[in-house]
Amino acid sequence: MRKSPGLWYLEQYMRAIDVIVKKRDRNELTREEIEFFIQGYAKGEIPDYQAAAFAMAVLLNGMNPRETTDLTLAMADSGEVLDLTGVVPVAVDKHSTGGVGDKTTLVIGPLVSACGLPFGKMSGRGLGFSGGTLDKMESIPGYRCNLTTEEFLSQLKEIGIVLTGQSADLAPADGKLYALRDVTGTVQSIALIASSVMSKKIAAGAQAILLDVKVGLGAFMQNLEDARTLAGLMVEIGKLAGRRTIALLSDMNQPLGYAVGNALELKEAIETLNGGGPPDFVEHCLVIAGHLLVLGGVAPDENSGRALAAAAREDGRGKEKFRQLVQAQDGDVSYVDEPEKLPTAKLNETVKAAQAGFIQIVNARTIGETVVSLGGGRAKKDDEIDYGVGILVHRKVGERVEAGDAVFTIYGNSKVKLKAAHSRCLSALKVSSSPVEPLPLFYGIIR
Ligand code: URA
Repeated sequence: MRKSPGLWYLEQYMRAIDVIVKKRDRNELTREEIEFFIQGYAKGEIPDYQAAAFAMAVLLNGMNPRETTDLTLAMADSGEVLDLTGVVPVAVDKHSTGGVGDKTTLVIGPLVSACGLPFGKMSGRGLGFSGGTLDKMESIPGYRCNLTTEEFLSQLKEIGIVLTGQSADLAPADGKLYALRDVTGTVQSIALIASSVMSKKIAAGAQAILLDVKVGLGAFMQNLEDARTLAGLMVEIGKLAGRRTIALLSDMNQPLGYAVGNALELKEAIETLNGGGPPDFVEHCLVIAGHLLVLGGVAPDENSGRALAAAAREDGRGKEKFRQLVQAQDGDVSYVDEPEKLPTAKLNETVKAAQAGFIQIVNARTIGETVVSLGGGRAKKDDEIDYGVGILVHRKVGERVEAGDAVFTIYGNSKVKLKAAHSRCLSALKVSSSPVEPLPLFYGIIR
């Protein structure tokens, strides 16, 4: 862990409670105070209850850009910061700020890696109503998300793709704080999201980073103004850390693709790598892959990048790369070849449209929360995930439905939960009698 000069001296006198109280009372924290708190928490000297109070004080009172940058660097420095120079010429990384049905990493990573651009990523677990890449990957028996630094580096060099979680070595402070925020109502903070995302990105060492900043009902940023602020802040932090960084603002009012829930999403990602998949999801993945290929110097412009990624999907190189990834991280590849083996809940139920018309709203947040309530996410830190539960969304905003058409299929393992999920899905849906425009996929880009 890197320490500011003099921190060892101040540590003798600082107390976690004073840092919490200072932020509770809306004062600006110094770099030393932030480092003291984060290092103490990472080392286990500051307990979860004080970290939860700190996170709540930050959520309620905010942090300025300088404090957020210091928080990010302190979290990145809580473990090793990888230097990939000498491992691969250039590696790229992407990160979403959290959404519903957002399984893009599982497709984009293999596609760009199959185009010859190393992709090394440290992902997260489910957070609040939003799903997590690690939980999705762990639907595959054996898949390991706790690679050591040596494993990360050698796998990146050998097969050009890594998809792991925080370890004791890499951004451990974020690993702890992330799990705590998930269950203490402290996710929705620009400072906490920016520092969580960027500390992982900095620690994982990629020279170029693409941030997919979600906006809308099923995102932590509900409006474009907040999403732009978050995106701008993260891009600045990335640049300060010497990384090529861009952010795309993307829609998260309705779930992305059709599948929401860990194994269901993994199946949809595999189907997409096999050349199928929902049109909105395929397009989203190809656009982001195109940008990554430009950032990594493989393609001269986004259109050529998109075409390279599309070719890797069509000829099966992306799927093969995904297989290699699963094998390298000890997952059972037979689940990639036969995705029907992935966990599926015992019960399912169809939710039908009560009236004819045009789909106006499929509230992504309600769908995400419903999947968590079925057991697809956590209510407490140590809760087990039920990989087989979830929801398939059959209709997207703007589409025509007739009364009685299936709009959702819910997968669950408890009749009681399934019944409650049925009414929640109905409440997520709004059908209009007049035509509705489809939602855009993207709202802009911040370079
Ligand atoms: N993704 C992260 O890694 N952290 C957050 O806080 C939100 C999304």
